[in-house]
Amino acid sequence: MQKIHVKTPLVEMDGDEMTRIIWQMIKDELLKPFLDMRTIYFDLGLKHRDDTDDQVTLESAQATAEYGVAVKCATITPNQDRVVEYNLKKAWRSPNGTIRGILDGTVFRAPIILKNIKPMLRTWQKPIIIGRHAYGDVYRNQEFKVPGSGKAELVFTPTDGGEPVRLTIHDFNGPGVIQGIHNTEKSIRSFARACIQFAIAQKMPLWFATKDTISKTYHAFFRDVFQSEVDAHKAELDAAGIEYFYTLIDDAVARVIRHEGGFLWACMNYDGDVMSDMLATGFGSLALMTSVLVNPDGIMEFEAAHGTVQRHYYAHLRGEKTSTNATASIFAWTGGLARRGELDETPDVVAFAKALEAAVLETIESGEMTKDLTQLCEPPVKRYLTTEEFILAVRQRLEAKLG
Ligand code: NAP
Ligand code: MG
Repeated sequence: MQKIHVKTPLVEMDGDEMTRIIWQMIKDELLKPFLDMRTIYFDLGLKHRDDTDDQVTLESAQATAEYGVAVKCATITPNQDRVVEYNLKKAWRSPNGTIRGILDGTVFRAPIILKNIKPMLRTWQKPIIIGRHAYGDVYRNQEFKVPGSGKAELVFTPTDGGEPVRLTIHDFNGPGVIQGIHNTEKSIRSFARACIQFAIAQKMPLWFATKDTISKTYHAFFRDVFQSEVDAHKAELDAAGIEYFYTLIDDAVARVIRHEGGFLWACMNYDGDVMSDMLATGFGSLALMTSVLVNPDGIMEFEAAHGTVQRHYYAHLRGEKTSTNATASIFAWTGGLARRGELDETPDVVAFAKALEAAVLETIESGEMTKDLTQLCEPPVKRYLTTEEFILAVRQRLEAKLG
């Protein structure tokens, strides 16, 4: 069989524990036999991050900015237990946080839809993707317990020496509580642009919602900045046939519940936090959730939304057969390959990515799946496959598809 040539290398970020094992299996069984592909490889495994004083994480993010597309395996974010377990110099920062900071990106979470894994809601037929604005608001607040009577004020002092602005928050007659939150125009603009880029790449309508009827300045600022970015990108959105839809957050929630899906929902930070958990649960399983970091210029990094599946890894180390679901990790690769193929204008690479995704879906839909899905499946399935058996079952279908 003639191997398919991938023109520009993908940036590859290797990771930890069970997902690292799966990562290697995916490359050996599902990619290398079919693709003539070189990657720009970075080992983000915890030991190597420690050995390089976390420089490897910075370098991998810089390479992503240079090449445009990355795929990432799940990684450990070390806490004190991990510092002991891996004998680390220190508890290094979350790699995802570091990469997000360097690329100024927004994270989008997308569920993988299967015929035999039914969402909790009958209406949901297609993915609903959430883009969460991951800066500011209540996550960067100042808050204060008011002990008793007194005046609470909002004060802004301009750096250029202008008159301070003072606004009364409340005249307290007794104890209470106050909070100050902020956001920046720059961050909201980056968020809006990342959402626009992703909607265009995925060819999906774009929704955004705030509570601007109540918060006529703060939330209205989000609405207006977002709208101005949509206006600035009107030609691109029109060319891709993408509609922008703005509504109130409570109206959006009601519509999401009765909608068939197939759109990108841009959310303010708190809404995104709450609603992404609602959607992940509603669609079925963390093992079927992918995650894409998109920067305002369209640079993308694909990964699984789940972690390194530590419990399964320890079972694996004890020599036990695990049944870990590789679906989201496979889709990280196919997402990256499809994006690479689009940018390189190599339709055969895009077609390979789609064939591999189809092979995964058909494998599970035919009743061959890992243990986590057997309980969610309709009709229920008794037998489950091991980690390796599942990947080999996908390979068989992929080979059949590619002739
Ligand atoms: P996790 O890896 O997401 O796994 C939690 C549990 O969810 C697993 O024990 C397993 O349940 C189930 N699960 C998750 N993914 C699965 C899959 N692919 N197949 C089958 N079952 C799956 O979370 P964790 O074990 O709490 O965290 C482990 C490490 O991951 C932590 O060190 C954390 O820092 C890191 N993490 C990394 C990322 C990332 O890189 N993006 C994200 C989150 C967490 P059962 O045990 O019941 O089978
Ligand atoms: Mg949450």
